Amino acid sequence: LINVENFCLNLLEDVQMFSRTTHIIKFIKHGQSFRANLDEKLLYSILTNLLLNAIKYSSPGGKIYLVLNAQPEATIFQVIDEGIGISPAEQQRLYEPYYRSENVEGIVGTGLGLPIVKKCVDRHQGEISVDSKVGVGTTFTVKIPT
Ligand code: ATP
Ligand code: MG
Repeated sequence: LINVENFCLNLLEDVQMFSRTTHIIKFIKHGQSFRANLDEKLLYSILTNLLLNAIKYSSPGGKIYLVLNAQPEATIFQVIDEGIGISPAEQQRLYEPYYRSENVEGIVGTGLGLPIVKKCVDRHQGEISVDSKVGVGTTFTVKIPT
């Protein structure tokens, strides 16, 4: 059993420190109980990958949100950015190893972050979904059953 709220706050500090980003990342929480039976290592990998993507694929002026929604039957995490976005056709392929979208020219990456995230979510019997619009921003939602 971990305290998910404290976990998120510590993780945000880590991400902000090792990415040296000037992005402002806001933490928002909904719900009551923030204790959940989650594997810390898997959750760390999921959230750092999503947050580092949000940083990498948006300009430093853009806002990033980490939203925690603790419900009785599931814990829901959302990482929201105002970055370059992902086209509908490309959204289907994000979890293929080494896949990168057309609009990332000049931004360094290997295309392995999201496949790893998907594996970690699967291990939790969770679900991941993406909602994105090119030039507007991206929201990744991860739902982990409790
Ligand atoms: P790395 O292996 O370092 O994570 P990567 O970031 O390119 O490299 P993934 O994290 O797997 O790889 O992401 C795959 C692709 O999905 C990215 O190359 C990018 O095209 C797209 N993508 C992922 N997250 C976002 C985002 N928040 N906004 C826009 N595009 C994104
Ligand atoms: Mg990545």
